[in-house]
Amino acid sequence: MLFRQLRLSGFKSFVEPSTLRIEPGLTGVVGPNGCGKSNLLEAIRWVMGENSPKSMRSGGMEDVIFAGTDRRPPRDFAEVVLQATGDDGEDFDVVRRIERGAGSAYRLNGKDVRAKDVALTFADAATGAHSPALVSQGKIAQVIAAKPTERRMMLEEAAGIAGLHVRRRDAESK
Ligand code: ATP
Ligand code: MG
Repeated sequence: MLFRQLRLSGFKSFVEPSTLRIEPGLTGVVGPNGCGKSNLLEAIRWVMGENSPKSMRSGGMEDVIFAGTDRRPPRDFAEVVLQATGDDGEDFDVVRRIERGAGSAYRLNGKDVRAKDVALTFADAATGAHSPALVSQGKIAQVIAAKPTERRMMLEEAAGIAGLHVRRRDAESK
């Protein structure tokens, strides 16, 4: 699966609608502290279905909505659009929108869908909000600080083979 484009509006610090084209290959995001680099990664997680406040560095669901600054009033909604191309070569786009007091809703290729449908779409593409391929800033520090056995677990998890151990332990205990 390839991410093609990310569009954010009212999401965290991205108050004005912002569009990012994502070219094939490695993408680097650079900028001063607090400029919104991590918020971009969180937008990708969020549109793919992330709901854990910890992963989103927020207290509640609505905390992803632009909260306002000294000079700008808060927004009523946040919206993220992710355009991607699946491994089958088909383009698709997912929209997630949250409104204050009204919860969040998804659209897949222009149709209202359930969170589950979005999760399945990304699961089919072998990725998702919890994909080990999305490594957050804090997690990198954890990998460096980890003891060798812990580090091995993390790397195995990233390689997608941690599940094999779980199944093996499960088999051995029977
Ligand atoms: P660093 O280099 O320190 O990791 P960064 O570029 O990753 O920084 P982010 O953590 O993405 O920066 O952005 C943090 C900024 O986003 C802060 O200024 C914070 O106030 C702002 N922010 C986060 N949530 C909201 C929100 N709901 N409304 C407005 N601003 C927000
Ligand atoms: Mg950051």
